[in-house]
Amino acid sequence: MKIVTILGARPQFIKAGTVSREIAKYPEITEVIVHTGQHYDANMSDIFFEQMQIAKPDYFLGINGKGHGAMTGQMLEKIEEVLIKEKPDWVMVYGDTNSTLAGALAAVKLHIKLVHVEAGLRSFNMQMPEEINRILTDRVSSVLFAPSKTAIENLEKEGFSHFNCEVLHVGDVMQDGAIFYKNLAQKPIANITDTFVLATVHRAENTDDLNRLKGIITALNEIHQKTEVLVPIHPRTKALIDTYKLHCEFTMIEPVGYLEMVWLLKNCHMVISDSGGLQKEAFFFEKPCMTLRDDTEWWELIEGNYNKLVGADSALIVDTFVNHQFNDDYSLDLFGGGMASQKIIEYFLTH
Ligand code: UDP
Repeated sequence: MKIVTILGARPQFIKAGTVSREIAKYPEITEVIVHTGQHYDANMSDIFFEQMQIAKPDYFLGINGKGHGAMTGQMLEKIEEVLIKEKPDWVMVYGDTNSTLAGALAAVKLHIKLVHVEAGLRSFNMQMPEEINRILTDRVSSVLFAPSKTAIENLEKEGFSHFNCEVLHVGDVMQDGAIFYKNLAQKPIANITDTFVLATVHRAENTDDLNRLKGIITALNEIHQKTEVLVPIHPRTKALIDTYKLHCEFTMIEPVGYLEMVWLLKNCHMVISDSGGLQKEAFFFEKPCMTLRDDTEWWELIEGNYNKLVGADSALIVDTFVNHQFNDDYSLDLFGGGMASQKIIEYFLTH
């Protein structure tokens, strides 16, 4: 059996790292990895392949730094060429990036069965490029592996039980990764205070809107007066901070590898982020989380009071940091308990 896996962005390397390790245990499955090039530098791409021991990509398409149309279009063209050559039984895509959508369209037009890992997530915000990518990818997938009960409910509401596809609730592959890498954590830099807040900012809705970015930076500066705020800064956000000469008092470091991220998650006091993945990782590592967005795909964390949506309003962010009491009982099994990759492979082996 041959599976072509399409990857392109940091969160996909992390998700695929876990599933690919499981695939490698079965000689009857051949995995061909296509890296679109969406994220390509050493600390946004290579480090994940090294640390997570993901096989070197069989194809590197080198497509990046373009608008959505050009990027998705060029990926579609190149992925189609690979699929025609490789003739896989399955194409597997992860998450919600332009690489996900391009892989999905290329596969389905060639009548190759498409598997979507992390299916069914919705923020209900069509301004997000990720939301468009998810909805379209889900709709053309043959097999949808959903990470949460909410994802299953979203798909039911959209009528997926009437479509020609299978929807399976397997849990979240990121929990498998968090469990596996927990004991391999590496401290990223020598000088980190005992109590610190881990923060990341990179979502387009925050970086493309200067007022929102300023609101977030003001809040992080203020919180930093009370507790050190440590930000592995995304290159897009760093470029905007430099361009607009935004005053940052918090500690900025280069983006870190996953093992360093696991260390930061294990040791931080709280997570403040607009990342999709970090909202769950905060839960896996039993840390409260403030999400710098007005919506989320992970409503169970909001309902459970593990996470608060704080948007980009500096007063609300600081007030929540100071006053909000989060739920500290992390015994709920919301994401499948670390069995997702195994269930995905079992599916392949029996179909
Ligand atoms: N991450 C990392 N190093 C960093 C920042 C993030 O390893 O410097 C990891 C993070 O732990 C999570 C994933 O990258 O597993 C999330 O990626 P990102 O926030 O870029 O994307 P999103 O999850 O929002 O799609």
